[in-house]
Amino acid sequence: MVVIMKPQFTQQQLETAIREMEAAGVKVMVSKGSETTILGAEGNASRIDQEKMEQLPGVDRVMRVSEPYKMANRKYHPDDTVIPLPGGRTIGGKKLAVIAGPCSVETEEQICQVARRVKAAGVTALRGGAFKPRTSPYSFQGLECRGLELLALAREETGLPVVTEIMGTEYIDLFEEQVDVIQVGARNMQNFDLLKQLGRHTTKPILLKRGLSATVEEWLMSAEYIMASGNPNVILCERGIRTFETFTRNTLDLSAVLAVKRQSHLPVVVDPSHACGKAWMVERMSLAAVAAGADGLLIEVHNDPEHAWCDGAQSITPDQLDELMPRLAALAACVDREL
Ligand code: PEP
Ligand code: MN
Repeated sequence: MVVIMKPQFTQQQLETAIREMEAAGVKVMVSKGSETTILGAEGNASRIDQEKMEQLPGVDRVMRVSEPYKMANRKYHPDDTVIPLPGGRTIGGKKLAVIAGPCSVETEEQICQVARRVKAAGVTALRGGAFKPRTSPYSFQGLECRGLELLALAREETGLPVVTEIMGTEYIDLFEEQVDVIQVGARNMQNFDLLKQLGRHTTKPILLKRGLSATVEEWLMSAEYIMASGNPNVILCERGIRTFETFTRNTLDLSAVLAVKRQSHLPVVVDPSHACGKAWMVERMSLAAVAAGADGLLIEVHNDPEHAWCDGAQSITPDQLDELMPRLAALAACVDREL
């Protein structure tokens, strides 16, 4: 960070600005030019309050020269992070991960049937929402704790790790016992208390979805919250952002996959289902995501999409997943990945 002083600053104002920076733990280098005096922060400037600095008398403006996220930053951790899952599975690295399953857990028969089919297709993990963040309070809210029990049954039957969304800090202990990957949904990406508590109270992998209108930097800062609180196991998930376009449910931002992989060492998966909202787009967008460098996919699969309790229009069938998997494998080979 550099602090640029106003042309007519006083010695006292300069000293106040330096003291403020030093109090945040950095060394200050003063560069006095004929017209401009600049204070450069040497060390970790992330504790300097930029807004407060800008309000100090004698300070003209403050410019950041490095990213505010440190633990998620590729600069300090050049190698790709590979997140281990139970059973020797991984997310990140050369092998692509596919997480598949219904939007929400409905019945024992439904989740176990889908679980058997996605397992046979060769996926990495099973998804299924037990706690659902719905726009309307009158919509199906998920089976909640019963949903977690049914996911545990499906895991027992198939051996697949389960991925499901957490909605509040009060469920962390329960998820710690029953869930393999804890999903933080788009709407909770900036629920900072939840992020902090997930950092403090678990080391289970956290699948952090991008917020509906979050910038890449905001998304990485949310990952930083979890990591700085003690849990380094974060998987990012691009799930489409809100734009002016209404044809698709959201707009899949594949350039964000490249941006995030350049800025961060964390694995990134793409959710084409929530991004597009249309089952017929899922195959092509999955292939596009892999071509763009995604480390995996999160895909909604339902045994009977027409009668799904949630998100049926964007859910592919197990048969369609069976067709998609070998196509993904063929494409993976072109981009030096494997399935
Ligand atoms: C989901 O994955 O079921 C979900 C609700 O996703 P998002 O948070 O991306 O809307
Ligand atoms: Mn859904």
